[in-house]
Amino acid sequence: MLFKIIFVFLLLMVLVALVGRVLFPSALPRVLRKRKGAPRCADCGRYLIGRTTCDCKGGGK
Ligand SMILES: [Zn+2]
Repeated sequence: MLFKIIFVFLLLMVLVALVGRVLFPSALPRVLRKRKGAPRCADCGRYLIGRTTCDCKGGGK
């Protein structure tokens, strides 16, 4: 009996999480979100904020 209650509780938690993710994607922590902004350089891994090219690939020196 107790196992059933725990199982239903877990099921509800999953359901709430799924619905919450669909309704409020911005409320999730940054770790769970898909990375959209802040593109990174494929070579050095630096963030390319406010620019499209990196310093490591020509033009920097
Ligand atoms: Zn780079």
